[in-house]
Order: sequence, then C-alpha cells, then structure tokens
Amino acid sequence: MLLSSKKVCVVGAGVAGLASAHELRREGHDVTVMEQSSGVGGQWLYDPATDAGDPLGVAGAQSSIYASLRLNTPREAVGFSDFPFFPANDGTGDARRYPCHGEFLRYIRDFCDAFGLMDVVRLNTKVLNVAPRGGGDDGVMRWTVRCAAEQGDDEATVEEEVFDAVVVAVGQYTQPRLPAINGMDKWRRRQMHSHSYRVPDSFSGEVVVVVGCHESGKDIALELREVAREVHVSVKSMDDVTPGISKALFAQRFGWLALRAAQIDRLCEDGRVVFADGSCIVADAVVYCTGYNYSFPFLDTAGHVTVDDNRVGPLFEHTFPPALAPSLSFVGIPKLVVVPRFFEVQARWVAQVLSGRRSLPAPEEMMRAAEEYHRAREMAGVPKHQTHRIAFDFELCDEFGENCCGFPRMEEWKKELILSSIRSSRDNAESCRDDYHDSELVREALRSHGWLTGRPPQHDRG
Ligand SMILES: Cc1cc2nc3c(=O)[nH]c(=O)nc-3n(C[C@H](O)[C@H](O)[C@H](O)COP(=O)(O)OP(=O)(O)OC[C@H]3O[C@@H](n4cnc5c(N)ncnc54)[C@H](O)[C@@H]3O)c2cc1C
Repeated sequence: MLLSSKKVCVVGAGVAGLASAHELRREGHDVTVMEQSSGVGGQWLYDPATDAGDPLGVAGAQSSIYASLRLNTPREAVGFSDFPFFPANDGTGDARRYPCHGEFLRYIRDFCDAFGLMDVVRLNTKVLNVAPRGGGDDGVMRWTVRCAAEQGDDEATVEEEVFDAVVVAVGQYTQPRLPAINGMDKWRRRQMHSHSYRVPDSFSGEVVVVVGCHESGKDIALELREVAREVHVSVKSMDDVTPGISKALFAQRFGWLALRAAQIDRLCEDGRVVFADGSCIVADAVVYCTGYNYSFPFLDTAGHVTVDDNRVGPLFEHTFPPALAPSLSFVGIPKLVVVPRFFEVQARWVAQVLSGRRSLPAPEEMMRAAEEYHRAREMAGVPKHQTHRIAFDFELCDEFGENCCGFPRMEEWKKELILSSIRSSRDNAESCRDDYHDSELVREALRSHGWLTGRPPQHDRG
C-alpha cells in the first residue's frame, strides 16, 4: 500500500494534542503542534493565578485545575497505551494510585521526552485563525493557520503557514458554562466559576453556595467546608446526590455542609440567595461548578462546524466534520471516556485516514450517520448538551477502536479497575482515593505488569 505523508498542524499540546502528534508521527506525517502556553500538558499545567478580574469567565487562564486536585482515575489504567504511568524512577514524585496533578504533568513531560515530541511542539504560539484555502492547482483543500508566536518582552509576531490538514485538540474544560439566574448580573457579592477556583483560603468564615455536585463541585464543597462557616450545595435533582455525598453530609466532621435539593431561583442585591423551593439564605459567595462549553474561536469553517447547546457538529464519530474531512478533524471532544486512551484511538484513526491506510465513508453517508446518532440520543432522552458524553461505555469504546483503526480492546482488568474506582467515588466521596480494594483479577494483572514491584517487566515503546 502506498501511504502518503501529510503536513499536519495540531492545535494544542494537552493530552489530546500530544497523542495526536505521537500517532501522526508514527504514521509518517510531518507534524507541527502549536501551543499557546509556555509548556505542554494543557489542563495539567497548573496555573495559580486566575482571578484577573473575570472570575466568571476564562480569566486569562487555560487550566481549571485547583491546587489540591488529585486524579480521580487510577494511574494503572490511564497512561498512554505504550507508556505506562509508573511512578518516577528516582523515587521522587507522588507514587499513589490517585496522585496529585503535578505527578500527571511530570508523566506527560516524560512521555514527550521518551518519544521526542518536543521537537515538533512550538510553545507560546497561539493559533488565531484556521481557515480552508480552497483547492490549489491539484484541487486539494488545504488550511491556512495564522498564529501569534511570542518572542519574549510581550512581543509577538503573527505568522501564517499552509498545512495539508489540521487537528483541533484544544480541550473542553476552559470556557465556563454558567446557569442563567435572575439577579446574577447585579449581585455585588462574590461569584466565581470553578475554572477560577484554586485554594479555599479566601472563603474563610464565609457562607458559600456551591452550585453543582459533580466531580469538581464535590471536591470543592468538601474542601471549602474546612474553612467556610457554612457550605450549601445546590443540586438540580436528588439524582445528582451520590451515596458518598450523603455520607459526607451525615458525617459533618469539619464545618457545616448542607444540601439544597433545588436550583437557585434568584440572587438578591441584599445578599439573599433564593432557591426554587422557596427557601433562602444570605450568602457571601456563590461558586458555580456547572461545567464547561466547547469553544473554537479561531476556527473559520463557514458554518460547516458549529457549537449548538454544547453539541459540536456535525461530526462523524465525534471526530470528522463530513464536509471538511479528512483534512479537518477533532481529537478530544468525547466526555467521560478513558483518557488518553480514547484520544489515542481518535488520533490513530485520523493519522491512518490522512495517510490513505484507511478511508472514510462518502460525506453524505457521514452526515447521515451523524444525524442518526443525534436522533438516537434525542429519542433516548439525552439532552443536546450531553451529545458527546460516552459515560464509560467500554463496549462502545472497544468497537470504536477496533473498527476505526484496529486499536486493541482494553484489558478486562483495566475495565474492572476503572469501574471499581467510579463506584468507590460514588459511594465514598471523602476516602475513595486512599481506601480501595482490588479483586483477584486486578491484583494478578498488577503483579504481572510490574505494578507491584515498582517497575514493568519491559517498558515497551511502540
Ligand atoms: C478540574 C479537572 C479535573 C480533571 N480530572 C481528571 C482526572 O482525574 N482524570 C482524567 O483522566 N481526566 C481528568 N480531567 C479531564 C482532563 O482535562 C482530560 O483528561 C485531558 O487532560 C484533556 O486533554 P485535552 O488535550 O483534550 O485538553 P487540554 O488539557 O485542555 O489541552 C488543550 C490545549 O490546547 C491549548 N490551546 C487552546 N487554544 C489554543 C489556541 N488557540 N492556540 C494554541 N493552543 C491552544 C491549550 O493551551 C491547552 O494546552 C479533569 C479536568 C478538569 C478540568
């Protein structure tokens, strides 16, 4: 088979962008990764400074990681497929199963070093515009990428370059998603989105309402409880309240934590927060842990790709926009998948389609498939903003990998480990990262893969 090598731009050097660079290079493409930050890692590049006068917006920060964050996924199951997430060789770092965020950043950097990825990453390079160039003499669509490359001293030069293909890998956890609440714009007390939350200290002695109770909401409420006078967690429905949260409420070991099984109806100028069930408190601060919106401000596709109520579309298999495939693709859109594994599958598929090793269906067929997928989700009662939520459906993920690019199925012991960590997080919000019990299947696999002795039997790098 005669494979072709393409000149490909990857936007973003988080986990998805680095997985893309790795797979594209493995397939023989000429890759450039453009990254606006001064380092790789995306979300895992912790940024202590955010407030920047914009605590409900992006606040000039890319990362939404807070200081105390520990992974909620077990390290044995979340590494790149050819580079296990082992603790550092020299004993430094955080060897726990659910380590702190800095340990994952260390691992990402080691991954880059192991595969020479820094050779193709341009740091401090913000992509300003990506637009199709139309067919050249050969009639093939290419892409013009305009970027601002920082030169130091706050100077930036704007450059333009033409690529055969662009992979968009800019993540999904930076642009705050906020509820519309009456009086929000006039409330003089503190409002903040979890994107801007870093440490609890400034909430000391305050009455705080935390809106939302998913992963960040849970972590932040439990942390605030240790310094605040009162923490009220407002949830849309009792379905959001896991047994683990109920236990934490019941235990009341530190400060005062209360559940409000109602959304905020309005914020009053005198500091009152009125809930939809008619109850009310006077609060000092509201912290919105209400998730994020996809955002691609640099992408100019003449309407071929839009974001509508957090559905990016149309996309064939969350990856290719039918009208612009394969030269434009997205890696990292799916939610609640095993990362980086799922992104590696997407990246390998993109790399193989670009080289000609695999082909895509005709654009009309991809469009039909995308529409059918949307219809099926709607009929199943899934709200539009959850279009890309895969909810750890391992069978679906395995089939996707096998069908798209022959990616091996995930080992059963990893599935079991991930599912037991999800169960444990649901049932024990406070202790799940330190108190876990492995089945015999998991223990045996950990032994045979070198996890219990500290080093792998062989560190295979594909
Ligand atoms: C609070 C929090 C906790 C999390 N905990 C976990 C966990 O425990 N386990 C887990 O598996 N996942 C966790 N995640 C999800 C995590 O973000 C993903 O696993 C993964 O890191 C996403 O990688 P990404 O590359 O898609 O996006 P990102 O990490 O967001 O990377 C995107 C990159 O694109 C760059 N970029 C954006 N726009 C431009 C532009 N115009 N020009 C150039 N560069 C640009 C950004 O600077 C960034 O480096 C968590 C997320 C959050 C927010």
